Amino acid sequence: MAETKRNSPPLGWSWKLGRLAGIEVYVHATFFLLLLWLGLVYWGQGGLPAAVNGIFFILLLFGCVVLHELGHALTARRFGIQTRNIVLLPIGGVASLEKMPDDPKEEILVALAGPAVNIVIAGLLWLSVNPVAVHLQEGPVQGGILQNLLVLNLFLAVFNLLPAFPMDGGRVLRALLSFWMDKPRATRTAATVGQMLALWLGFMGLFYNPILVFIALFVWIGAAAEAGSEEIKSLLHKSTLRGAVITHFETLAPDDALTRAIALTLDTTQKEFPVMENGQVVGVLTQEDLLRGLKEEGAQAPVSRYMQTEVETAGIDEPLDRVLERLQHCGCRLLAVTDGGRLAGIVNLDNLMELIRIETALRQQHRP
Ligand SMILES: [Zn+2]
Repeated sequence: MAETKRNSPPLGWSWKLGRLAGIEVYVHATFFLLLLWLGLVYWGQGGLPAAVNGIFFILLLFGCVVLHELGHALTARRFGIQTRNIVLLPIGGVASLEKMPDDPKEEILVALAGPAVNIVIAGLLWLSVNPVAVHLQEGPVQGGILQNLLVLNLFLAVFNLLPAFPMDGGRVLRALLSFWMDKPRATRTAATVGQMLALWLGFMGLFYNPILVFIALFVWIGAAAEAGSEEIKSLLHKSTLRGAVITHFETLAPDDALTRAIALTLDTTQKEFPVMENGQVVGVLTQEDLLRGLKEEGAQAPVSRYMQTEVETAGIDEPLDRVLERLQHCGCRLLAVTDGGRLAGIVNLDNLMELIRIETALRQQHRP
């Protein structure tokens, strides 16, 4: 079940480029729009050769971006954290790590690994465009492209080290702060620093370069999003499943016909049903399973033939942040919640999301 989830594209409109070190690399459709646009701009400036050169350069640059993300991913792997995929977007790359390390020291290393890759690439390029090295080689050397690539790699390293979310520097700052304060406060402080930096960048941008205003906006939004998601995470960390479990729910038996599942689907708001036998959960019938069964065999087919037999369970005292993480990544629709070995209820993503919305609204009400 988890396999299908892992193989599905991370975002709509993205294509798989291939695998690097076991991690799937995707490219988003808008990236080709960027290439097309830049190609046309260069074409306007210098005809076909300029367009080909320009696109070649952008591809090399994005190769460096992939290596940067791979730096994060492989460092995280050393700490036992897998990366689902790397996606190339026009604004850069995104490596989807399963989670960030909880240990601040590990988080710092994972965050620094990306910019470190760009510094190493810049160093290697410097060696190859260095006048001494150029002398050793015969024939023309593409100094222009390599020099530009060197400068841009240094820029990537410095830009990503800005102490603001969503940049790597923001994570380093948060991890450093969390040696002195708890994680939610460290995140809020780092987000505030990031937003002040964004204000300053935006202000400078008004006078010097409109691109800075765009970057400032990106930093501002990233900082706010990180602070918000950290607040939800800390809220979820403090509560357990006990307050979120659904205790009123319908169940099926393995020998029930699918007609019973149809009746329950239409009568209730439930979309997936635990299948019980002798007080034990032996499977889960999701709405997709039901529809598949109806198409293949009709309404008289037994539930047991179409239910999923792998059932994920969670203890009733499990913290909600872990439960949310599991529901997002297991590819299962529902967790069976047990209390001392007995089934206490079920929980699904919809009802956790509802809980988050309610808690967020309650928290906002308390604020002046
Ligand atoms: Zn990075």
